[in-house]
Amino acid sequence: MKIARARKGNEEFYCIVESSTVIRLSGGLEQIFDNTYQTLNTYHKSEVEFLAPCMPSKIVCVGKNYSEHAKEMNEGEPAEPLLFLKPNTCIIGDGCEIEYPSISKRVDYEGELGVVIGAVCKKVGEAEALDYVLGYTCLNDVTARDIQKSDMQWTRGKSFDTFCPIGPFIETELKPDRLQIVTRLNGEIKQKSNTAHMTHSVKKLISYISQVMTLLPGDIIATGTPEGIGAMQAGDEVEVEIEGIGILRNRVVIINS
Ligand code: MG
Repeated sequence: MKIARARKGNEEFYCIVESSTVIRLSGGLEQIFDNTYQTLNTYHKSEVEFLAPCMPSKIVCVGKNYSEHAKEMNEGEPAEPLLFLKPNTCIIGDGCEIEYPSISKRVDYEGELGVVIGAVCKKVGEAEALDYVLGYTCLNDVTARDIQKSDMQWTRGKSFDTFCPIGPFIETELKPDRLQIVTRLNGEIKQKSNTAHMTHSVKKLISYISQVMTLLPGDIIATGTPEGIGAMQAGDEVEVEIEGIGILRNRVVIINS
């Protein structure tokens, strides 16, 4: 099932998307996760505006989780998951614009599988970790690479507003371990890999993170990017496509302020 968040008039709601139909749901992600929601009105897709499919309290990201990407960065593979955070003010949805910050000279795409948590998740083992997942979405861990490299750590370079596009949907019926992931820039393939090549699996990541911080419904884990990272320019269109989920498409713009 494909879960989205949408706006109609001044109301925002979760919904199920079935081809050209949108079925409005009562309640939030917890009710969707528990199957205790009710279906309300049905609309045609063209009648609603789609939003980012959820608004996390935090985005927990994993660095260098594909060995070929660790190699291209001239850095070793971490023996344990390497974690950092992005604030939720980075979140934008499919079709929204990535704002190129005036203080950066190099802004990169990083196509990634996003894991959306469905239930409060604290100190879980790997065996039950996937039981806490609502579903999966496409994610772009946009990075001001020059700032990431010049600072002692990654917060500033990873945290500009609009630097975490997610969407277009949360797919709830998917196994995360063998999905093709492709990133295109202006239609040209730049990253092409498979989640099977992750160093640390999704269940390992959930368990590892949950030993440190409680994951809440709607929280997102960005599971790392494969090889092929590169720069974007204003006017570029970037797409992250993951098998079974869909295509997340965003354009890069310069905002004069
Ligand atoms: Mg990343």
